[in-house]
Amino acid sequence: MATTTIGIVNQKGGVGKTTTAINLAACLAERKKRVLLVDLDPQANATSGLGLAKQPGASLYPALVGKQPASAFVQSTAFPNLDIIPSELDLSGAEVEMARTDAYLHCVKEALAPIVAEGRYDFILLDCSPTLGMLTMNVLTASNSVILPIQCEYFALEGLAVMSRVIRQLRESGANPTIDIEGIVMTLYDGRTNLAQQVVQEVVTHYGPKVFETLIPRNIRLAEAPSFGKPVIFHDTNCTGSVAYRQLTREFLQRRHPEQADDRPALGAALRRIFDTPQPETPLNVIPHS
Ligand code: ATP
Ligand code: MG
Repeated sequence: MATTTIGIVNQKGGVGKTTTAINLAACLAERKKRVLLVDLDPQANATSGLGLAKQPGASLYPALVGKQPASAFVQSTAFPNLDIIPSELDLSGAEVEMARTDAYLHCVKEALAPIVAEGRYDFILLDCSPTLGMLTMNVLTASNSVILPIQCEYFALEGLAVMSRVIRQLRESGANPTIDIEGIVMTLYDGRTNLAQQVVQEVVTHYGPKVFETLIPRNIRLAEAPSFGKPVIFHDTNCTGSVAYRQLTREFLQRRHPEQADDRPALGAALRRIFDTPQPETPLNVIPHS
């Protein structure tokens, strides 16, 4: 079966990229999908969040500069169907070396190409750092599509506008002519605040069906699971964070294969309810129309 490569991207920090990467990966694996999570952030949060030590020499760095095959860096995790290529601080040095190569935008794509060609995985998820640096731009050229986690706060809207412009430019420049936004995930949602609801409304107004109907709530179990080196479903399988990421995974798969949709209730009631809630007169008009 063909491998789909998906970047989890947002140049804003702390919006839930890594949390989404780890937990979407784990929930896909739980549904018997074969998943490779590639940690492309020198902070290596996805690495430690899946219970691996940050080890010098263990990152994709040598593969990015053509010195070793990426497959040499694949490690299994404690979780079935879920492998990882870890990261560590040295990966930041890769950016400098990559910049010196001719195909500097395609290092990640070329490094992962043999793994993609092999078809060993259904999904390769790429976790990014909060920058639009060389590694993130490489992720955008290597990905079939991207998931944009955004925090339900005002500044998030500005970040989203920047991301969608960069993605459009990559498509139009030919660097990645087929890249698309797989979906926008609203994270750290706190339904008690008007602002969160207003941000959701604003994003849905501008991005419509690109927004995943599943909202990821603020949930303490999600925040503490990485300190146990576990995805949340292995930390507290019934907490709201586990329920939310399982539902996001179901929605993600249903969108890709509507014909395989199961007969459970339709998604989206929560999002529709928020959308229908009357909001203050002044809109959060910060997403440029394009
Ligand atoms: P960075 O840009 O630094 O890589 P990020 O976008 O990957 O950050 P995360 O590391 O996933 O963001 O999340 C930032 C912090 O918020 C972490 O401490 C994480 O545990 C916590 N967090 C993320 N999502 C949730 C949530 N839904 N509920 C509670 N805490 C969360
Ligand atoms: Mg992160």
